[in-house]
Amino acid sequence: MPTVKIEDLSPSVLLTLSNDFIPSKYDLSLDVSPTKRNYSGEVSIDLVANPNKHVDDEPFFQITLHSLELISVSAQLILDSVVYKLKAKLDSSSQCTRYSSEELKVSDLSRATSKPKLKIRFLGVIHEILTFKDSTRGVFKTNYMDPVSGRATLQLISTHSQPHFARSIFPCLDELHFKVPVRLTLKVDQKYTCISNMPIKETEDVGESKLVHFFETPKISLSVFSFALGDLEYIETTTDLLGNEKFPIRVYTQVGESQRAQFALDTAKAYLPLVEKKFGTQYPLPKFDIVALPFLSDGGVEDWSMVQIISSQVLLPNWDCSLQQLSEIKKNQRLIVVHEMVHMYLGDYVTFDSYDYTWLNESFATFMADSLIAERDDPKLWLNFINTDMVSVEEQQRYDSVGPIFVSHVNTSSINDTFTREAYDKGIFVLRMLGSILEETDSDRFDTLFSMVGEFVEQHKYGTLKPTDLWNFIKGQSNNKYKYDIPTIMNSWVHTAGYPVLSVTDQDNKIVVEQHRFLYDVGRDDIEDIPYQIPLLVKDDTGKVSRQMLTDRNLVIDEKNLLFFNANCTALATVGYSFEKYRQIAENLDKLSRIEQSQLFIDLSTLLGSSRQDSAVLLGFLEILKKIRKINSLDKTSLNIAMTILANLGQAIAGVSYFDDKEMFTKIKNFLDQTAGRFLSQLQWDDLRDLSSEDVTLRNTLLSLDYTNITAQTISRKLLKKLLHGPRGSVPRGLLTTVLALVQTSASVKEYKEINKLVRAPGLAVNNVVQPAANSDVQTAAINSLGFVTDQDLRRRTLNFVSSNVDVTMVELALVGFRFQPDSYQQLWTWFKLQFFGLYSRFTREQEGQAGKLFKNVVQIVFECCLHDQGLTKEVNQFSESKNLAVLDECLEKARDEYKDTKSFNSNDGELKKIL
Ligand SMILES: [Zn+2]
Repeated sequence: MPTVKIEDLSPSVLLTLSNDFIPSKYDLSLDVSPTKRNYSGEVSIDLVANPNKHVDDEPFFQITLHSLELISVSAQLILDSVVYKLKAKLDSSSQCTRYSSEELKVSDLSRATSKPKLKIRFLGVIHEILTFKDSTRGVFKTNYMDPVSGRATLQLISTHSQPHFARSIFPCLDELHFKVPVRLTLKVDQKYTCISNMPIKETEDVGESKLVHFFETPKISLSVFSFALGDLEYIETTTDLLGNEKFPIRVYTQVGESQRAQFALDTAKAYLPLVEKKFGTQYPLPKFDIVALPFLSDGGVEDWSMVQIISSQVLLPNWDCSLQQLSEIKKNQRLIVVHEMVHMYLGDYVTFDSYDYTWLNESFATFMADSLIAERDDPKLWLNFINTDMVSVEEQQRYDSVGPIFVSHVNTSSINDTFTREAYDKGIFVLRMLGSILEETDSDRFDTLFSMVGEFVEQHKYGTLKPTDLWNFIKGQSNNKYKYDIPTIMNSWVHTAGYPVLSVTDQDNKIVVEQHRFLYDVGRDDIEDIPYQIPLLVKDDTGKVSRQMLTDRNLVIDEKNLLFFNANCTALATVGYSFEKYRQIAENLDKLSRIEQSQLFIDLSTLLGSSRQDSAVLLGFLEILKKIRKINSLDKTSLNIAMTILANLGQAIAGVSYFDDKEMFTKIKNFLDQTAGRFLSQLQWDDLRDLSSEDVTLRNTLLSLDYTNITAQTISRKLLKKLLHGPRGSVPRGLLTTVLALVQTSASVKEYKEINKLVRAPGLAVNNVVQPAANSDVQTAAINSLGFVTDQDLRRRTLNFVSSNVDVTMVELALVGFRFQPDSYQQLWTWFKLQFFGLYSRFTREQEGQAGKLFKNVVQIVFECCLHDQGLTKEVNQFSESKNLAVLDECLEKARDEYKDTKSFNSNDGELKKIL
């Protein structure tokens, strides 16, 4: 067998352009046995003259087909019942075989009365897959354990054609955009189960073997052609589809595993009719199967109506797992199954004509799956999407190194190489924007878009598309009611890197919206700041939404009562406002949806501490916060974002003002204290066993707002009691660190000792933590708490604890609490000077290990604290000059950067005091 390197396989000239004749149908018969290394096959190909041929005519008949790791045994052309023998010439480097004859002229073929038929007999390789590192391509097999005998005697074979491995199944024209029907017959051992894209038409017995004839497929891209056979079992059901109320669905698995696929089957049953309904177009094939495979390189492959998914994503666990883990697993499975179903339409029924558009194929499948899942099973899906996915997409997109979504001539060695994660993530947002602007109200069902795509699919079925075909189609539809120029908008977002930051200000009784590309590193003049085409949905102070199109740098709007720009988070954009506008938003918070409230705080959090921070943002944030009285008036996650901003902001302002401005210090402390008290008292604290993770996170953030808050301390003392004495599983793991720190803030010697005991013997308490929890969780929280003590003597004990436990991993955590207490900085500095020699000499001996890390972390914490105080800053500078060590200079530099960020929150003292 010739061995060929698998790399970018796109030949320079497409065979669909260079051949005189091209296939119009494949009749493929394979004789396959998992016990053999090879299989034999015969393909009979109907040929037709190529209408697109653009290479010079050859006088004699020849046709070139893709073939990889195949050996042609014989080849014939049959013309009007006369058989012509063809010569086969393999060219491994281009993965092609040329079949030609020197007695048959091209002109003979055009004179023939019947369709020319090409018949090739060949041998192919069955790739053996032993580990996850082996890539699945062409025909592959694996064996697995028989659950009854316990021996690895069971076999299964499947195929993987994407991106271009159909050529290693049989000689064919393996180009993504080329679609013709395939009729498959398999000759296999009697005992094996067989599956392919189409249902089985009939089975014939031939001795020990059987011939399995499948129905002919409609026109299909060979990238999604597939079959599987072997020791497989299945569970099945039917669902109600247009024109077939008993539409069959099966999930095939290894023997003994099918019961674990019940959830996947139920999901398919529930969602296939929804996908069909959403598109408004009848499901194209007569059955739908999922095949669970132990190995599959891309995790999931959208073979047409025979979706292959790696077993771990289809089977529910057969081991003990928590309810929360189980629900996560189900969530992932549901998304994969529905995602693949969407591909059955856009991807398979209509196929993108190049792998340059895989990003759209994938982003669309996920976007539509998300929309359907949000409707049926997960009403908070989009809110969570904004809170998590949007935040990370925006973070990625602020790097100047990130490219646009579209890249031409992508690497096609595997599907996963044809697009980047960043392109896929941003693509989902861009599609959500498209879906939103076509709706009249801020609905998250996106029915208009999906029905338009369904209509497009219906019109172009069995064909191919480019994204611009779809954009133009949508633009021309009558239910593009607001006459959006869809191709222009989509091209802007697909071809321009990054995403915009908008500033909304009032000027001369008008509102001005200005856009720029949002980068971490502003002031880069080598990066173009091209305006995006932003369809803006704007909410006014009555809650009504209107539309604007921002196509240039600025947009001036002559309406004063507009309140919230980018309603329903339609475009991917961070929006900052003037203080006046923030004040207006604060007055009308209840007009914003939960998504918009989240978006508001995410934007504030992004802007604060960024290059775009200004006093309006800082003051606006506090103004909004003051208006939130009831904990339920915001979604928990939004409130958590707001409280996290406040915690960071509060700590920064308090740390600086303690030394500079006592009045400010008192004001910010009071503000934190009041806010914490207000929200903490609205929550229940008696039974925390079954809290969701977002409930725990919010409680934790509120508790950590102000370590001197009386309510927080009272709650924490009760929880410490439960931690030490039970009941079992009563303290959420996510609260441990904060609860212990809070108790320490006003700890008695007795309490200090109790917590200290947990450092050495965390096992005493671990069972009282909500499971799963480890000893190290308790231990880390206990060490961390030691620095929160406020009593001079206890602080001395903590510092001694650090000096005498330098070998304990993460012992420096015991210093973290000092940061929160400006009155401890002097004591910390004095201790540090005494310890310096010991810590440094350990560092020089073991720079890369624990001692090295400890030294740097300690120096960092101490320097950061000291820089807050002018007197201590002087000492730190002198100290580090006198030592003249690179590592100290490096730490000092970092600490100065940190301090600069901290200080930036304090630049508006006068205004700040008024607001607080
Ligand atoms: Zn996909």
